[in-house]
Amino acid sequence: MGGLGSGRYGCSNASKVDDYRAVDLAYLNRNKLLQVGHNGTLSWLRGGERVGWIRYSVERDGLRLDYKTRNLGEEEWQPVNELIPFTRTQTRFGGERWWLQCLSCGRHCRIIYGGDYFRCRNATI
Ligand SMILES: [Zn+2]
Repeated sequence: MGGLGSGRYGCSNASKVDDYRAVDLAYLNRNKLLQVGHNGTLSWLRGGERVGWIRYSVERDGLRLDYKTRNLGEEEWQPVNELIPFTRTQTRFGGERWWLQCLSCGRHCRIIYGGDYFRCRNATI
């Protein structure tokens, strides 16, 4: 596991992710959505159809995700409300880079993927 500033992070090797619902921190950042207090909805489309959505809010300490999940074979949808912690590293040019810390393995990553829960690529469950 790379330490801070080593430039190596466990979850950066994303390739083809069409089959997953993904939360991309870089996307949020690009669209100026990474402001503490901001909240909204993320939707995933496939073939023009909405295949999933979650609510999120940006808190000082992390990205809160609010959604429902259902285990295979179960009738009931379980509400999930999780805070995915932010970590911030300094860039060489005085800026800040934000990472999400995977709740399963603790690695820093830019993108988390939704299976039943949102985790890094290695730990998607
Ligand atoms: Zn992980």
